[in-house]
Amino acid sequence: MRQVPNVHDAEPIPAAAKQAIEELLQSGDLFRYNSEEAPVSLLEREFADLLGAKYALAVSSCSAALFLSLKALDLPRDAKVLIPGFTFAAVPSSIVHADCIPVLCEVGPNYRIDLADFEAKLDDVQAVIISHMRGHTSDMDAIMSLCEARNIPVVEDAAHSLGTTWNGRNIGTIGRVGCFSFQSYKMINAGEGGILITDDADLVARAVIMSGAYEHNWKKHKGPIGENSSDLEEAFARWQNQLPLYNLRMNNLSAVVIRPQIPELARRVRDGLVNHDYVAARLNGSAYLDVPPPLAPEQRAPDSIQFNLVDMDEAETRAFAQVAAEQGVKVQVFGLSTDNARAFWNWQFLPEKQELPKTRDMLMRACDVRLPVRLSRDELDVIADILLEAAEIVKGEQRAYGT
Ligand SMILES: *Cc1c(COP(=O)(O)O)cnc(C)c1O
Repeated sequence: MRQVPNVHDAEPIPAAAKQAIEELLQSGDLFRYNSEEAPVSLLEREFADLLGAKYALAVSSCSAALFLSLKALDLPRDAKVLIPGFTFAAVPSSIVHADCIPVLCEVGPNYRIDLADFEAKLDDVQAVIISHMRGHTSDMDAIMSLCEARNIPVVEDAAHSLGTTWNGRNIGTIGRVGCFSFQSYKMINAGEGGILITDDADLVARAVIMSGAYEHNWKKHKGPIGENSSDLEEAFARWQNQLPLYNLRMNNLSAVVIRPQIPELARRVRDGLVNHDYVAARLNGSAYLDVPPPLAPEQRAPDSIQFNLVDMDEAETRAFAQVAAEQGVKVQVFGLSTDNARAFWNWQFLPEKQELPKTRDMLMRACDVRLPVRLSRDELDVIADILLEAAEIVKGEQRAYGT
């Protein structure tokens, strides 16, 4: 039998991390505010510079970054926050956590926001989180002009979009705030962790304090090197003692695991895109599989592939996933498992039940397959072969199922 690649193991952490971990363990300096040049502070500067933002705040997860972004926007209790109906349960959860109310908008068969539904719901909301789910970028030009016309702040959930660009601009720098994840399934893996970036001194000052920079620890947060930092200092002075401390800080150990991966990012992004596009071209050769193309301004950074099943009913969809699984490739159809955290009807913690027929229809036939960037061409072929064969077995001339 052919060897099916392991798609669950992450890439090893670069050896440079070992030395830094050893030094950290020797010094015992795990808390970010023990020193001025703590690894977490260095990471913040490097990450902000990498993406071209003025400020970065590293925290315990992307969910924490989203929560702090909403809190930093100073939204009133029960403010409505619009999000796409296709995202991870942590996103509406961060809104509930911030005492706000998630409002869901439709997502089309290409996994991107349905702009007609987005616009129809926009006048009733006070903020927007654009979740670039699985790194698929919605039309940010249209979204920004609709939101700017109404003065509605946009938070980008770029958890899965590190390295993605839109018209050459880094995803996460288009909205007022961009939030990223360092959880193990993302481009940079620290097990857990998150970071937010912004150019807004007042917003970052609020987020820094609420993340747990108690007393004068905010003094260890600086703006871009060489820039007059009076905006930031004034903002910190304004908010001193005014805000709750939620203690969502990042540990220095996480930062030393993350920092040596930053130089690897460009390679990971490049390989991930080449791998994805290779498999996409092969899958699109089948009449039963459809990988939607990116939008024209979008340069993607994928580490998984999503595709739609064409003309398959629910029984055939289940059969497709089963045949692929028997051959060793796990296909997750977002809407088919009872507990999938990316299916909006499973977010039963929402204050109001919301129905999204288009998004539901997409989730019932959209498939998700992991495609770690380290896979070789031969390994990609094994995965593509299994998916193509499964489609052929279920729908092709020698139908074995559903007859
Ligand atoms: C992973 C992910 C999150 C959550 O990130 P955490 O760091 O685990 O909180 C949120 N949104 C999207 C799109 C994600 O992929």
